[in-house]
Amino acid sequence: MSFTIAIDGPAAAGKGTISRAVAAHFGFAHLDTGLLYRAVGARVLAGADPLAAARALVAEDLEAEGLRAPEVAQAASKVAVLPEVRAALVDFQRAFARRAGGAVLDGRDIGTVICPEAEAKLFVTASAEVRAGRRYLELEAGGAQVSREQVLADVIERDRRDRERAEAPLVAARDAVEIDTSQMDIDSAVAAAIAAVEARMEGKNP
Ligand code: C5P
Repeated sequence: MSFTIAIDGPAAAGKGTISRAVAAHFGFAHLDTGLLYRAVGARVLAGADPLAAARALVAEDLEAEGLRAPEVAQAASKVAVLPEVRAALVDFQRAFARRAGGAVLDGRDIGTVICPEAEAKLFVTASAEVRAGRRYLELEAGGAQVSREQVLADVIERDRRDRERAEAPLVAARDAVEIDTSQMDIDSAVAAAIAAVEARMEGKNP
């Protein structure tokens, strides 16, 4: 059986944590699609051509060191604007989505472009200030030398690039359940996500 859960939303809204918890709860595989763009962005920072890097991408590249660095995030959102780069990454994501046993994919365009037929779709958001605050704590815990102001500016810049691009912009799918995590702790956000997916499962298999 295949069952796809699409989880989209802006940077640092809690998608990653929610997606991992939802995948563990249902026993599904999980793909953080941001890593595909980060892996291409990292190659471009090292001098590669974006399209060549996207076409050459293999699963092991998603485990490369340093993909979480802020400069890689910015490079990722720049290569993500290029339609040819996005097209080169589609097959990998769709194959993952339809694997037997169920899959959770998180990103920006999963429910709208990659898997418009996904059985369950969530759109996870939070205010830019809350998201930047969380990302700052994460980066600080990882030993990065960054200021809160810089993290907020980065989040706002990346949001703008993701929302305004012509190809597969960040937008909630019409049939996505929206979860605003601004006022939620992680346990409540995960519980809300699981409840939303269960509702879709019951709707599908009454
Ligand atoms: O989710 P994450 O912050 O790791 O994504 C890095 C960048 O990759 C995003 O800012 C976005 O530009 C791009 N991305 C995308 N489509 C996806 C996932 C990520 O365009 N499905």
